[in-house]
Amino acid sequence: MLSINNLNKSYGKTKVINNLNLHIKSGEIYGLIGANGAGKTTTINIICNLVKADSGNVQINQQPISAATKKIIGIAPQENLLYKTLTCTENLDFFANIYGLDKKNRQQQVQATLAAVNLLDRANSPVETLSGGMQRRLNIAVALVHQPKLVILDEPTTGLDIEARYEIWELIRQLKNQGITILLTTHLLDEAERLCNKIGILKHGQILAEGSLAELRGIIPAAEILVLQTTQETEAIACAQASGFTPRRYGKELAFWLPEPLELKEIIARFEGIKIDAIALSPVRLEHIYLEVTQKN
Ligand code: ATP
Repeated sequence: MLSINNLNKSYGKTKVINNLNLHIKSGEIYGLIGANGAGKTTTINIICNLVKADSGNVQINQQPISAATKKIIGIAPQENLLYKTLTCTENLDFFANIYGLDKKNRQQQVQATLAAVNLLDRANSPVETLSGGMQRRLNIAVALVHQPKLVILDEPTTGLDIEARYEIWELIRQLKNQGITILLTTHLLDEAERLCNKIGILKHGQILAEGSLAELRGIIPAAEILVLQTTQETEAIACAQASGFTPRRYGKELAFWLPEPLELKEIIARFEGIKIDAIALSPVRLEHIYLEVTQKN
């Protein structure tokens, strides 16, 4: 569905996209994750033909980007693209018109899209009277109203409470079930874990690692991660290394990669003589993989 090959973009002397390669198959939810300034929005702007790349190529449905491919794409940008004094229906009708839908088709599509994002009962409410979560759903509806094949969601749940997030996650799953391909950017790594069947880790405009969560887990050769709180950190690290545990810092937390699953009491026995204040086990999460990949590079 989307194929990006050897893409480059600089602003002045700063290279913001650096030989980027990214491929999304039809029906996938691809999560592009990366720190602020990694190049996510620039990549999206190039895909949507809003910014021109310096070199490389982008193909959507095997066609180079052009005015025609714009119709295949729907984008929900980071900042809601809505007219606050207009109603939900008026907003959607306006954007459907821009996409060239005729009046009859527009009416039908506006209704169907409002139903899809669960806003039919607020069809005639001005946007400014909607909650933040509803506005976000309407912003996604704008991306859907012309029935695109590829939907780009730039940080779709940033700033929303957990219930509003659940609603948007459910909506994204429904889009996938309808066969729509989705490119999602997010800073919420648990969001990427929940939704995406493929994840790309972007830094300085380059994909450093890519794959399903299961494939990315292969980057960290650990069965589980142990987080330990103690005032005797140096001694704890020595004990852990003697047991084959690999030490890591996640923020200020001291953690160890355990090469095989172990019972808690067996783990505690390996730290004999150390006063342990707290101990916790966790599976290898995307945050661990992300930190490993981005800090090494
Ligand atoms: P965020 O998570 O904060 O949205 P991002 O990964 O989307 O970040 P981009 O917005 O793509 O990052 O920005 C990548 C880099 O390109 C940044 O260093 C940014 O300052 C720079 N940049 C983006 N647009 C322009 C522009 N029009 N002129 C100059 N520099 C730009």
